[in-house]
Parts: sequence; structure tokens; C-alpha cells
Amino acid sequence: IAIISDIHANLEALEKAFEIIDYKKIDRVYCLGDIIGYGANPNECVAALLSRGVSSIIGNHDKAALDLRVAAQFNRYARAAVEWTAKQLTQANIEYLSNLPYTIVADDCTFVHATPDKPEEWNYIVSEYDAQEFFEFFTTPICWVGHSHVSGVFCEDMKSVEVEKGKRYIVNVGSIGQPRNGDWRLSFGIFDLDEWRYEHVVSEYNVALARKKIVEAGLPPYLGDRLLSGM
Ligand code: ZN
Repeated sequence: IAIISDIHANLEALEKAFEIIDYKKIDRVYCLGDIIGYGANPNECVAALLSRGVSSIIGNHDKAALDLRVAAQFNRYARAAVEWTAKQLTQANIEYLSNLPYTIVADDCTFVHATPDKPEEWNYIVSEYDAQEFFEFFTTPICWVGHSHVSGVFCEDMKSVEVEKGKRYIVNVGSIGQPRNGDWRLSFGIFDLDEWRYEHVVSEYNVALARKKIVEAGLPPYLGDRLLSGM
């Protein structure tokens, strides 16, 4: 399976990720939410997920585009993006986003955007220490999370940095469309369910085009510039 997250309407990054997913002959793709918000192609990104039968959960930016009250805590750039995005979304895509669940449990994995206990509160897991309090809120060996845009493997034993069978993990796969770990390249996860092998995929993509589209769409230019630094 492939696990993608935080696409943020970045079609260039999403298409590149799908190229890699096709090349690696992945059976199923799960999306951890934040399909839209920040980037210039919200409708196109939803369409790409739909056409490939991707199973997705809802992220806070998806929710905010449907209900602007969710954006009350957003900074001014995120809020400007969510207001722009809400105006772009087609009725069909609004309905699609409205029907996304907060949690999926499938393939012996739990998938959430933020945290497994109360995913609708949009809290962050950014360290192994943060992760410890959440292991009791899911029953599968692995819970896949997004939201922070920073990848990380957090083991229940607080020692293991590689995914190994018999242990339990919370894994953040990083972000497709707006990484914040100082590396501008797209990031996602591939997990082999038979061999229990986790691969963190990182790849270059046409970031210049994604940035240009943001500026041309009238979104805050800062949202384009930050793609170049991965912050
Ligand atoms: Zn996000």
C-alpha cells in the first residue's frame, strides 16, 4: 500500500507521486487528508484521487473549506488560501469532501490525519514523546498520521527507528504538497503488508510550476515561495 498525506492542492507533486506509485505497482493508496488548501489545483487534486479510487480521510484544511469556522485558528496565509479554495470547489467535490471519514481502519492499519483519539480536534504528534499517549487509542500494529508535514517513525518502545514486525508504531509519512522539514521534495510512505517493510519515499517534482500557479491564481506569493524551501 502507499500512504500519501497533505497534498494541499499541489497537482505537480501529486502527479509525480502517482508516477512513482505506478512504477512500484502499488495495490492500494490511502490518503491521510488535507487534499486541498494552500495550492492552486484543489479540484484537480480531488479528481485525481477519485479517478484512482484512493481511500481518503478528512483533514483540517478540507474541513475548513467546507466550514470556514474551522479556519478561525489558521494564520492569515492559511485563511486566505482556505477562502480562495472554498470559492473554487465544485459542488460535486464539496459533496465528496463532506463524506470523508475521520478514521479508516483497513489492511491491519489505522489511518488518521491528526491523532487517533479525537481526530476532529486536530492535535499534533511531532515527537516520540507525544506519540506515547496515543498508542492506547488504536488496536492495529501501525497508525499512519499526517498533519505536521514532517515525517517520522515513532515506536511504542521508544527505541526502534525502523519498522519491525511485532512492535507498534505511529508513522508520519510527511507531506506530498507542502513539506515542512526543510527539504522541498515530496514525501510519502510505501508499506509492504506481506514483508512488513516500510519505505519512506522522497522525490523531486516540478516545484517551479506549482509555485508559479500559486502566484498566478492570486494566492499569497509566500505560499509559493515556501514550497522552494520546504518550510
Ligand atoms: Zn496539512
